[in-house]
Amino acid sequence: MAGSSGPAFVRAERLRVLPPYLFAAIDRKKSELRRQGIDLVDLGIGDPDIQTAPHIVRALQQAAEKPENHRYPAYEGMLSFRTAAAGWFKQRFGVPLDPRTELLSLIGSKEGIGHMVLAFCNPGDVVLATEPGYPVYKIGTIFSGGAIHELPLHEKNKFLPDLSSVPAAVLKKAKMFFFNYPNNPTGAVTDIGFMEEAVAFCRKHGIILCHDAAYTEVVFDGYRAPSVLQVPGAKDVAIEFHSLSKTYCMTGWRIGFAVGNPDLIAGLGAIKTNLDSGIFQAVQEAGIAALTGDQTHISKNNAVVQDRRDLLVAALRKSGWEATPARGTYYLWVRTPGGLSSVECVDRVMSETGVVITPGTGFGKSGEGYVRFSLTAPTSAIAEAARRLARVRF
Ligand SMILES: *Cc1c(COP(=O)(O)O)cnc(C)c1O
Repeated sequence: MAGSSGPAFVRAERLRVLPPYLFAAIDRKKSELRRQGIDLVDLGIGDPDIQTAPHIVRALQQAAEKPENHRYPAYEGMLSFRTAAAGWFKQRFGVPLDPRTELLSLIGSKEGIGHMVLAFCNPGDVVLATEPGYPVYKIGTIFSGGAIHELPLHEKNKFLPDLSSVPAAVLKKAKMFFFNYPNNPTGAVTDIGFMEEAVAFCRKHGIILCHDAAYTEVVFDGYRAPSVLQVPGAKDVAIEFHSLSKTYCMTGWRIGFAVGNPDLIAGLGAIKTNLDSGIFQAVQEAGIAALTGDQTHISKNNAVVQDRRDLLVAALRKSGWEATPARGTYYLWVRTPGGLSSVECVDRVMSETGVVITPGTGFGKSGEGYVRFSLTAPTSAIAEAARRLARVRF
């Protein structure tokens, strides 16, 4: 084995304490089924199969030709990109932003979320985060030496957290609060009422409000997602993370932005100045083309995903599941049939149909009893999954 006679390089404690990688067991099962000749339909990961719009790709091509874009970008992003993002935000949510102080470009919002915790959380601080949820809130906290306090999302509470459940002793140490609507993995959406409640809670307890807004544009049935910054006074306590990944089918491009309180933006920026050197400027120019160009492809893409959702919901219901169509995100979060555990259910679905899905417990302990179906496979693949699922009685 390579390196077997060299020194043992033990990973840092912060890596060793991470929860096990969610997809490792599923990857093993996938290879096993492939070896048996089973043709898999992968509805495991949420990564859009729909291509980035051609005008965005052309903007990248043209920008890549310009030598001035080959040099280091400004860490906080080109002012032209930040101005375009502020313009998009004003048009979409009606909230004006100063692109110099209230907006920061990000190498994808995952980067911003992870670095945000590093910027504001000291060892001993508590970070509140909704659970099941995007793993980065917790991992960023572990990397920062903070402690996570999870707020469970239950179906009976419309997958909204109960803010009154946080014990006083926890509140005293709480530094930040992460939540995300439209929500990955539950597909839950909310209205401005919950945002108002969250802002009031964070103002009262002096907590930094961090809203992960990756899916505000991936919505169905006429639903419109709010921004937390639409709440009066939110800018005193809040930062919101936006991403071009899902809105414009640009996951591979790595571009997003944070908006909100200038001190929070500056703190996050201070981490970034020291750790990264910003986004390739040609990608920022493509981002400008995305944010300022034709937006009609967004609703067209949403219509495609909505059809896939309806196909899958109908098939699941036929085969005895209680599936509810989500009004946002790429995900169907469905209670397992027959009281199966999440892992048992994934195992049976994969073995009996070759459809790959994710166990709810991969996103947190309150995900037990649920599985997640992703709608980012081609419609023909979703239709095939629907056919196979409808044939099995659970
Ligand atoms: C996809 C996703 C993100 C981040 O995506 P980036 O590509 O890093 O911008 C953030 N939060 C949630 C919940 C997501 O699903």
